[in-house]
This record gives sequence, C-alpha cells and structure tokens, in this order.
Amino acid sequence: MTFRTRFAPSPTGPLHLGHAYSALLAYDSAQTAGGEFLLRIEDIDQSRARPEWEAQIYDDLGWLGVVWETPVMRQSDRMAAYDTALDTLWNRGLLYPCHCSRADIAAAASAPQEGAPLLGPDGIIYPGTCRPNQPCTGPRPRDIPLRLDMARACVDLDWPLHFVEEGNGTDEIIAFSAKDMIETVGDIVLARRDMGTSYHLSVVIDDAAQGISHVVRGLDLIGATPIHIMLQELLDLPHPTYHHHRLIRDDTGKRLAKRDDARAIKLFRDEGASPSDILAMAKP
Ligand code: GLU
Repeated sequence: MTFRTRFAPSPTGPLHLGHAYSALLAYDSAQTAGGEFLLRIEDIDQSRARPEWEAQIYDDLGWLGVVWETPVMRQSDRMAAYDTALDTLWNRGLLYPCHCSRADIAAAASAPQEGAPLLGPDGIIYPGTCRPNQPCTGPRPRDIPLRLDMARACVDLDWPLHFVEEGNGTDEIIAFSAKDMIETVGDIVLARRDMGTSYHLSVVIDDAAQGISHVVRGLDLIGATPIHIMLQELLDLPHPTYHHHRLIRDDTGKRLAKRDDARAIKLFRDEGASPSDILAMAKP
C-alpha cells in the first residue's frame, strides 16, 4: 500500500508553530516511507475562510521546505461529494433536521432532571429534542442542520469498531462500542445550516477521495476519530491509520490556537528566523 498522508489546514488564520510541527511531521513521515504528502484546504466555513490566509499557508509551507503533490484539494470545490454522502445517509433514515438553537440545547441539556450537561467532541451532547421516533422520509431538507441519529446508525454496524493509532510509536488498537458512541458522542450535526456539510463528514469523504493511508494530526482531534471511523463504516470507505501527535503549548502550558498570532510562523519569519529555527522551536 502506498503511504499517503496529508496536512489539512483551515484558512481562517495564520499557521503557527503547532501547524508547522503537524505539517513537518506528516511530511517527514511521507519522506521516510517513500510515500506522498498531500495538502487539503479545509475551507467549508466560508464565513471565516479568507483567500489571503490560504495564500499565506502556501507561502509558509513552501518556506518551511515542505513540498506537496498537486493539485491541492479545496473543500469548497467538493460540495457535490458531500451532498451525495448526505443523500445516502438521509435515504437510509439516519439523519433528521434539527430546529434547536445553541441556547435551546444548553437549556434542554441542563434541565434539572438531566444533571450536569455532558460534553462530547462537539460540545454539549445533544439532548434529542428534535429526534423523530420514525426515520425521516421524503426529500432531504437543505436549509436546516441535519443530525445523525446515533442510536439508529449504530444498529447495523459490527461492534466494537476500532482504529489503529501510531502516535505512541506502536500500533495501538483503540476500540469503542455503540454504547460509547451513543453516550459520549450522541447525535452530532453532519450538515450545518450555513455550510451544508460539517468537518466530520467532509474530512472522512476527502481522506478517502485523496487515498490517505495515514492521517497525521494533533491529539486535540483524537476524540473525533471514533466518529470518523463510524462514518467510514456507514459510507463504505476505507479506514486510514492514525497518528495523533502531541500539541505544542505556549509558555503557560496552554495549547496554541489560531488566535495565538504571536506564534504565527509569519511573525518569526519577519523577525529573521530561518526554517531550521522554526523546526527547532516546533520540535523541541
Ligand atoms: N482542518 C482541521 C484543522 O485545521 C484539521 C483536520 C484534520 O487534520 O483532520 O484543525
């Protein structure tokens, strides 16, 4: 099997040291394995994606010495593929429209009889307010968020599911049950109102479309990986191997985020840092 990995930044802010680490780790893994390194621009959130951030991504990665296969995949060009997958899930009765606002969800989840609201990978676990008793039929609605009916989606799969995690230097098998998915993930949104898709759906479809054999990404996303494995099963897509790497933290131990512009690669560059300086900072 060809080793093929990718770096999948969202063009919603500057790349920082954490991104440099992720990109270089993926790139080095591909080099070591004699495989391929691909780039994917995750720009489904058109309200936040900016062409200038995308241009900066190419510029910073090129400056770091990373070389990627062309053409680059851009998620905003891939809506037809996401629509097809949503149709498949809808036609199997696994999706339902959700009318709840964030405030409705917070209120329902913190009602006295519910105890403290439980948090999943996407925030508060949906309390099920809009979940229908019977699978939805008819044409798929377009202008409203669609949630995955997790319990229904679990029915036909072979449990437990698992993925292979290489982040600790060995092939670790991480298994999870239908009960885990229902209780700790719940009915996640697969089509967001403003996007017509979601991170989870798009990432799974595009990793398959790009033939990704190894996903290298930060540990902040390991909680989302069972969702991705489950979607791969539901959509009959292959499972890559995963490598979730440690996160780069700032001096106070806080994880770097896009808003931490102080750690932007561009700023270090402007101050005269060389790619090997960035490498040293990103890989202590
Ligand atoms: N686009 C995501 C991010 O910038 C990465 C998703 C992934 O690697 O699966 O955090």
